Amino acid sequence: MDLKPAEVTEVLKRELKNYRATLKVENVGTVLAVGDGVARIHGLDKCMMSEILEFPNGVFGMALNLEEDNVGAVLFGAETKIKEGDEVRTTGRLISVPTGDKMLGRVVNALGQPVDGKGPIEVGKDEWYPCEGRAPNVVERQPVKEPMMTGIKAIDAMIPIGRGQRELIIGDRQTGKTAICVDAMLNQKNTDVICIYVAIGQKMSTVKSVVRSLEQGGVMDKCIVVNAPASDQASMQFLAPFSGCAMGERFRDEGKHVLIIYDDIYKHATAWRQVSLLLRRPPGREAFPGDIFNLHSRLLERAAKINIDAPKLNPQFKVGGGSLTALPIVETQDGDVSAYIPTNVISITDGQIFLETDLFNSGIRPAVNSGISVSRVGGSAQTAGMKKVAGGLRLGLAQYRALAAFAQFGSDLDAATQAQLTRGERLTELLKQGQYQPMAMEKQVVSVYAGSSGALDTYPVSAVGAFEKGLHRFLEDRHPTVLTRLRDEKKLADDVKAELDTAIAEFKTTFRAS
Ligand code: ATP
Ligand code: MG
Repeated sequence: MDLKPAEVTEVLKRELKNYRATLKVENVGTVLAVGDGVARIHGLDKCMMSEILEFPNGVFGMALNLEEDNVGAVLFGAETKIKEGDEVRTTGRLISVPTGDKMLGRVVNALGQPVDGKGPIEVGKDEWYPCEGRAPNVVERQPVKEPMMTGIKAIDAMIPIGRGQRELIIGDRQTGKTAICVDAMLNQKNTDVICIYVAIGQKMSTVKSVVRSLEQGGVMDKCIVVNAPASDQASMQFLAPFSGCAMGERFRDEGKHVLIIYDDIYKHATAWRQVSLLLRRPPGREAFPGDIFNLHSRLLERAAKINIDAPKLNPQFKVGGGSLTALPIVETQDGDVSAYIPTNVISITDGQIFLETDLFNSGIRPAVNSGISVSRVGGSAQTAGMKKVAGGLRLGLAQYRALAAFAQFGSDLDAATQAQLTRGERLTELLKQGQYQPMAMEKQVVSVYAGSSGALDTYPVSAVGAFEKGLHRFLEDRHPTVLTRLRDEKKLADDVKAELDTAIAEFKTTFRAS
């Protein structure tokens, strides 16, 4: 009998492979103490960080504190079902959530279980993604350069967001933070962007109204809502953004585009503070645990624009070029952006949109303070057409801001100053935009062009809204090519610009400010 070494190794390899598959890594311990949503467990010496632990009665938890003689874990599910002395098993699995197309159109909890009463979500075993994914590294990424239009003039023109960017939305309570994000999701109706809205510690009624808006806007079937309301355990609120991110990563790795909103990160920090203090981790500044910065950067680093060649580098990426854009929201107290969590998140993200109560109350909505809001990705996240016209807008508003305060004193103003004030007032008015009215890129360009080229200067401020609407309608009726070419070419070609100029001049002869 002749032995073929190649064949023997093949058999051995196969046997070894199967041997591994049947080997069970299980470790059993006992509950030392349980309460307030956390448990301490003795005897789990082979436990992994964020491993799922199985308790009796269907309760499970996640290991978070690996100490010398015990393990601290948060619980998901009713802690009243477990007691001291109960058996705990490790599972060898990290906490993960179901992902994929079946999740679209659904409202789920932090564990990915449906909570919308529309029946179970069945996904394959290989469609689960770990909540704690690895952030793509430098070579797996490419620079942010594609626009992620929100449909909001004040943002798309001055603080453009690109696909793969992380842009913070920060402001006091009731300044329209959620409204901006809902509009941004509604604006994805005719794009290839999938939206994920993660509600952390929100009122159930707020989340319901967001879901209703998404349904009415006809975008719910491309959205996932991850809901960890204020009534949920802190562990669920802590996990929710990571779960939502994992769901987004699945699409990102398949070359698709995702917009994820974390509403809001401050409440997330509070949930983590609660869990940490219960796990007896030492408190740091403002009683937040020392790893809060790490926690949030771990979450936000996973937003990325993936390199087109990434699949060659790492099989995790099925198709290159996908993106995950993150819009974390932070609520401030009395406009204090220098508090711990706001400063942390400001430094992690690629820019911030500041919303101000004063502006909101004076009717400037969205209440974006364009002076201190920035997008560090800048013009590369804008279409060429928008970039061309937005410069004038930014400049006009900056000059206006510089003058407005001093002009309040009503001293005699020279003509140039007066002109700048006139322009600024009209531009400010032009940037007002109602809720649930995202505007297409080409219309935004037309509006911004009209405002910054001075077409509005001869009309009273109160006529700006009517002028804008009228101009859009006029273009649709008489010069539709201006809009279609702007939309298709994404730039303002010279002949289109010339036609737009003529159109505006024609429109001005018909427009009467009432
Ligand atoms: P919270 O701190 O409670 O989460 P928030 O900052 O998310 O509040 P929203 O709930 O989005 O604020 O908005 C507050 C209120 O302002 C809502 O009633 C909303 O309808 C209204 N609002 C928001 N944006 C606009 C807008 N552009 N035009 C008119 N009303 C608006
Ligand atoms: Mg809100």
